[in-house]
Amino acid sequence: MKHLLLLSTGGTIASMPTKNGLAPAADAQTLLSYIPQIEQLCHITTQEVFNIDSTNLQPEHWLILAQRIQENYHRYDGFLVTHGTDTMAYTAAALSYLIQNPQKPIILTGSQKPIFDTITDAKKNLVDSIHFACKEGVCGVYVVFDGKAILGTRARKVRSKSYSAFESINYPIAAFIDEKRILRYVDTELSPAEVHFYNKLDPKVFLLKLIPGIEPQILHYIAQHYDAIVIESYGVGGIPFHNDRNFLQELEILSQQGKLVVITTQVMLEGSDAETYEVGARAIQQYNALQAYDMTVEAAVVKLMWILGQTRDLSEMQTLFYRPIHHDLLL
Ligand code: ASP
Repeated sequence: MKHLLLLSTGGTIASMPTKNGLAPAADAQTLLSYIPQIEQLCHITTQEVFNIDSTNLQPEHWLILAQRIQENYHRYDGFLVTHGTDTMAYTAAALSYLIQNPQKPIILTGSQKPIFDTITDAKKNLVDSIHFACKEGVCGVYVVFDGKAILGTRARKVRSKSYSAFESINYPIAAFIDEKRILRYVDTELSPAEVHFYNKLDPKVFLLKLIPGIEPQILHYIAQHYDAIVIESYGVGGIPFHNDRNFLQELEILSQQGKLVVITTQVMLEGSDAETYEVGARAIQQYNALQAYDMTVEAAVVKLMWILGQTRDLSEMQTLFYRPIHHDLLL
């Protein structure tokens, strides 16, 4: 029988009504008490890491989670993390960068309805996660939700209320899960490299969403506080340079200041191809901007935090950004 470690962090799955709305209450042991049938499938040890709404989760919490997995890595066959859905995609990306080449499954799950509710997706998601974590050959970071296993670097919350809250962006769903029945569409090959844990992130990353009329001078302020700037632009990627709202002049200043600029797109599917149009090609070719291609915005932002945790050298940053990690980028 496999031995899993369940780390609880809060979120809706653990929440109870209060006079101010739902708030996390249950610890990991209480969550498990709702699925007693699991005793026949595997051994589970529980630890409460924190008990918060994932809206309150910070990069420092990702480091604590990764460290908790590191401390216990050799003791367990796999790890489950119960988590709020709102920032689960960011945490999944963070664990994918902080824990590279894991030979074991690290599964994040949660629910849209608390486990205490009579009608809830919490029990299914927990049971599915446990089945997936116990499946032979599964390794790496995944979000398991509503019967789908999604790679940690590809997950995005796409529905705020329904059970089918997560999608895999620009990558196939890794597996469909219905308790014991698991259909794997993507095999994660065991890396010959040893697992490697990182313990540094630098959150000085800003995400700027363009809208028509946005003033480029906003970048002055951003550059005073942040070292990498992701610009969520339009379509396949472009930076406006029309008349007095010319972002290219600002990109020039940013590049002189050694700031890293990455162009991504507001369009959810298919990613950027920013050299297609003049509006994108000029930013890339003349102002050293990078682009996120098929990466999710969540993964791009967190990858930059991981990169800033290691270097401020622009060419090293560029190399690391374009190095595919846990299938975050198809080049
Ligand atoms: N606000 C909650 C959270 O992210 C939502 C959820 O878990 O579904 O913690």
